[in-house]
Amino acid sequence: MGSPFHLADALDARREAALLRTRSAVRHEGAHLHVAGRDYLHFAGNDYLGLAREPLLGAAFAEGLTRFGAGSGASPLVTGYHEAHQRLEKSLCDWLGVEAALLFNCGFSANQAVLKALLGKEHRLWQDRLNHASLQEAGSQLPCTMQRFGHNDMQALARQLEPGAGLIVSEGVFSMDGDLGDWPSLCDLAAQSGNWLMIDDAHGLGVLGPEGRGTLAALGIGPERVHIHMGTFGKALGVAGAFVAGSRELVEYLTNFARTYVYSTHMPPAQAHAITAAIDLVRAGEARRTHLHGLIARFRAGAKGQGWRLGCSHTPIQPLLVGESEAALHLAARLRERGIWVTAIRPPTVPVGTARLRITLSAAHGEADVDALLAALAECREARHG
Ligand SMILES: *Cc1c(COP(=O)(O)O)cnc(C)c1O
Repeated sequence: MGSPFHLADALDARREAALLRTRSAVRHEGAHLHVAGRDYLHFAGNDYLGLAREPLLGAAFAEGLTRFGAGSGASPLVTGYHEAHQRLEKSLCDWLGVEAALLFNCGFSANQAVLKALLGKEHRLWQDRLNHASLQEAGSQLPCTMQRFGHNDMQALARQLEPGAGLIVSEGVFSMDGDLGDWPSLCDLAAQSGNWLMIDDAHGLGVLGPEGRGTLAALGIGPERVHIHMGTFGKALGVAGAFVAGSRELVEYLTNFARTYVYSTHMPPAQAHAITAAIDLVRAGEARRTHLHGLIARFRAGAKGQGWRLGCSHTPIQPLLVGESEAALHLAARLRERGIWVTAIRPPTVPVGTARLRITLSAAHGEADVDALLAALAECREARHG
């Protein structure tokens, strides 16, 4: 009898379209990556401030393990909400200027939980076409009406909006393009139309704004103008996990109705303890941010000089637009031969025809690392056009 599922066919189709994904087990060391016995310079992570391997953060994690043990022991409404979680929530509120916050095991489930808990059949959801998969997926599975607007197309959004009907969601820094959402316009449109606004600032938090408070702070926008703040701890904060923050009422509502919160074992308290230490490091991390933004400018000037097509990004996410999937894979492979690890990003993660290298910079890099990347890119460019 045949199988009810056609796994091999699905995989073959992806392979033929040059879209098959594979994993490599790695070991990190500073800005280097060891893969299959080889050493690479690494421009493919989200550890923008170099905190993931920061000894002070590791020490905080170890201290948390000694004090609180390995696991939280239960879901948060049972007995899994520890004092260490409460301290982290307080520290988040203090940092971001919000009333209350709630912790999640990951950003993907945080986004799903929020949209599911809020949006009923009678509601509308408007989201940017380039929002993260977690938002797109939740939106398309919900009973509400979802409309997507072209990336940062505020006129399109204005035409779609209905007064007081639901929620607008966009990102602080877009994860594959590195550009910012149009937050001044989003705030105005939400206020004028009486709709709620949610920011996913996974890539802005820690990197942008005074004390690394993120995209809104960088743009001079007060946190009270955005109803729902979501951020993750696995990128610039160097650990893992996520939060949702806003008014006390919102957080009390989510504590009751967000299913991935209520029915999931709470993050280990040691992890919460480490993240609290990460926030302290981020707030005091102006030197790391200055160094990082210097590297970004150095990379952009160098790559532009070589004639590459870059995105409109001044964040650590620097897309190098190639076009076709095969060309992106080929370029990534050429760079690997030269000891540089970057990821080719292909559809369906990005729109068809916009396959790219997603180059990311980190405060763990030095100027010499960026120069080595640029030298390797120059060789690949000559090979393509020479
Ligand atoms: C990474 C990311 C998420 C998911 O966060 P995880 O904690 O990794 O699950 C959500 N939104 C955006 C924009 C992201 O980049």
